[in-house]
Amino acid sequence: MPDVHDLLIVGSGPAGLTAAVYAGRANLRPVVIEGIGAGGQLMLTTDVENFPGFPDGILGPELMMKFREQAERFGAEFVTADADRVDLSDAPFGVWIGQQEYRAHSMIVTTGASARMLGLPSEQRLLGHGVSTCATCDGFFFREKPIAVVGGGDSALEEAIFLTKFATTVTIIHRRDELRASKIMQDRALANPKIEFRWNTAVEQVVGNGAVEALQLRDTVTGVESELDVQGLFVAIGHDPNTALFKGQLDLDDNGYIVTEPSSTRTSVAGVFAAGDVQDHVYRQAITAAGSGCMAAIEVERWLGETRHAAAHS
Ligand code: NAP
Repeated sequence: MPDVHDLLIVGSGPAGLTAAVYAGRANLRPVVIEGIGAGGQLMLTTDVENFPGFPDGILGPELMMKFREQAERFGAEFVTADADRVDLSDAPFGVWIGQQEYRAHSMIVTTGASARMLGLPSEQRLLGHGVSTCATCDGFFFREKPIAVVGGGDSALEEAIFLTKFATTVTIIHRRDELRASKIMQDRALANPKIEFRWNTAVEQVVGNGAVEALQLRDTVTGVESELDVQGLFVAIGHDPNTALFKGQLDLDDNGYIVTEPSSTRTSVAGVFAAGDVQDHVYRQAITAAGSGCMAAIEVERWLGETRHAAAHS
């Protein structure tokens, strides 16, 4: 058995790194398995203007660098690799990276969620330059501009309605002629004079060099191609929580998110906590993820204290 740490944190977005800051300051010397794509979803954004404390805004990757520096300052240790396997059947819990095994008395899972993407090379190229997956984060940059939202679920409609505060028009592009979203959201979107719909339509290509200029569209029924002039594209076709590692070991909900107890980050396994987007499909903000990471670290500290106290008196 390798050295047993107090705490392993798996994931390094705002939730994981906030947990690392708090756990570091509590002298738990956390080991953060930060992943190859360290830093989470903010690494895919440009300006972040709604994170308190940065009145002039900050670049997403720079913000995450600051989180990491702060965690390091308090003794967090980083492993820059993806975890391949976990064993939560018994404490100390195990994490494997290839043959390398890590063990800890407690764990915080902060592996986040990934926005589903259309899978177009032009979408990747213009991500953060007019292509976005977060209206709350980026809507402000599209004042008085025509934009499009792709998707037909609650997220797409919610984002489209929010974006009408800024944009001149919001065109919702949906691959079918029927929305998946709830009736109430449909009614709101259909009644909004700034929202237009393109039914039975797929985005074939995002056109632009350094900034979005237009979309190439295809009618999914007739195959007819067309172009739509917009300066932004919001991809709102759902998120997938990064929970493949934990399937069968932690309780997950129907959409694959880790189930945590109300007002807590406790999971179905005592000693394992979850924070951030991996357990939150409602708010999905860096600041709420950071808040729940803080909760998790405090809960770990208490849990370790209680279990050690119980062991000493048994
Ligand atoms: P969702 O319900 O899974 O909807 C995804 C939408 O994107 C669907 O309309 C789907 O089309 C479309 N889509 C998926 N892959 C696509 C692709 N490759 N190309 C083009 N379109 C694609 O996801 P969501 O809207 O993020 O919602 C997730 C969950 O959160 C839902 O349970 C939702 O009710 C909930 N939510 C609730 C609220 C609220 O109540 N205010 C807000 C946001 C989310 P098809 O319809 O053809 O499959």
